Amino acid sequence: MASYFRLSKALILLWLTYIVLTQAQSEPWSLLKAPKELALKLIRDPVTLSLASIDYGHIVHDNPFEVFEPSSISDISNLIKFSNSLAIPFTIAPRGQAHSVHGQAMADDGVVVNMTKLNGFRNGGRTVVAIVSDGTGAPYADVGAEQIWIDVLHATLERGLTPLSWTDYLFLSVGGTLSNAGISGQTFRFGPQISNVHELDVVTGKGDIVTCSAKSNSELFYGVLGGLGQFGVITRARIALGPAPTRVKWLHLLYNNFAAFSGDQEYLISFNGRSETNAADYVEGFLMLNQPPLDLSFYPESDRPRITSLVTQYGIIYIIELVKYYDNSSLEHIDEDVQLLVQGLKFVPTFMFEKDVSYEEFLNRVHSDELTLRSQGLWEVPHPWLNLFVPGSRITDFDEVLGYQYYTGGRREMPLGSPTSTDPSPRPSSSSDLQPQPGTISVLPPVIFPQRGTHDTSSRLGILAEPRTPGTTSLG
Ligand SMILES: Cc1cc2nc3c(=O)[nH]c(=O)nc-3n(C[C@H](O)[C@H](O)[C@H](O)COP(=O)(O)OP(=O)(O)OC[C@H]3O[C@@H](n4cnc5c(N)ncnc54)[C@H](O)[C@@H]3O)c2cc1C
Repeated sequence: MASYFRLSKALILLWLTYIVLTQAQSEPWSLLKAPKELALKLIRDPVTLSLASIDYGHIVHDNPFEVFEPSSISDISNLIKFSNSLAIPFTIAPRGQAHSVHGQAMADDGVVVNMTKLNGFRNGGRTVVAIVSDGTGAPYADVGAEQIWIDVLHATLERGLTPLSWTDYLFLSVGGTLSNAGISGQTFRFGPQISNVHELDVVTGKGDIVTCSAKSNSELFYGVLGGLGQFGVITRARIALGPAPTRVKWLHLLYNNFAAFSGDQEYLISFNGRSETNAADYVEGFLMLNQPPLDLSFYPESDRPRITSLVTQYGIIYIIELVKYYDNSSLEHIDEDVQLLVQGLKFVPTFMFEKDVSYEEFLNRVHSDELTLRSQGLWEVPHPWLNLFVPGSRITDFDEVLGYQYYTGGRREMPLGSPTSTDPSPRPSSSSDLQPQPGTISVLPPVIFPQRGTHDTSSRLGILAEPRTPGTTSLG
């Protein structure tokens, strides 16, 4: 009798396991039973599915069951509600420009929501920004989360206005960068992009369409900002604007000493009030290692030989990238302002270089690198990209790591824990080639994150292992 009970218990357990497993496995197929209005927008053709299974990283490949192409916000709401109506809801991942590097906008066996399809729906096309003024006179823009920042820039510049905080690269979606942070050389003054948002429209995990801000539904607001797409789908963001400058003085200051370089960065970002006229408008930094190729396109041709000699002599050269905006009203004193900023800085004497470009050309600077890399077939390649935040007090450790990597010729284990490849193959072809190599360039922008009334200094390091092919550049 006892063995009979044991057997039936085992059978029941087996049966339950079977139900759970088959239910879980077959759940994507219930998408085929989606209501007609959703089914029409759930795409299963191999090209669409394959595009949704890669991103800029080219490292992770997760295959979605279907790709959803919404033409309205309520489509997204209905999709989420349909998923919730199933015994086991399917995974949903919003996808902006898919410039993530590790599959963050993918949904294995789930549904990827192609946010770019909302473009046609909003404001009748690519007119993306509505600029209004709140009661205090501070302008802002209401932007569809699927829009890309370069379009936001164009639309706001038409009105003499601009967002205050940027990323280095502007062909990223508003929803995508607000789901991360949005950090660049302006962050030390204005905070990351997520600190410059007044209000959001969000489709929640229940499928509700909710407007939230610091004052209303604040838990949702702060959860979604920097929430990696895990707390809802952003569909609209109200972004703070300020007056747009027309031109910028764009400086590179070269250092042969890390302490002087990081000390000067700290000094420069200590002037960080939003309306402080003496402050720099942008501060980042990067490195040049004594490994070809050196990208010297920023510098006058006549200075390139002496820059190359400096890099050869010291092995590593640190560069502060500094920008001061101006327009007609500040034209008269801009040179004086720049002189005041750099006065007393400890860069190698005579190794200060300056360009005068339009505000748009400066903000969109990475796009020209993109075009170069694309023309060489080096854009759509694996990007083993590591972003780190390092407290100011430990930033010298980074220099030690770099020195170690450089002087050992990358032939030993790096303190960062990444074994370094000695393979000089021009293009990474498999994951074993994806390690940082000697000669790759690391980007070192200092940023201050004003948080809850305190000012913690921290640096963002972007480390990108690059193929060693002449003409390649590092992107930050
Ligand atoms: C060349 C290059 C330069 C870069 N430079 C910078 C830089 O200077 N500063 C910086 O901060 N970052 C930078 N990044 C990183 C970039 O900000 C993030 O990868 C960002 O997520 C890209 O936006 P996307 O539209 O491609 O987002 P996706 O990759 O499509 O999505 C990113 C994440 O956000 C989620 N998501 C997308 N849209 C929404 C939405 N509407 N609602 C909710 N969640 C959503 C996705 O599910 C995913 O989790 C850079 C990336 C590249 C490729």
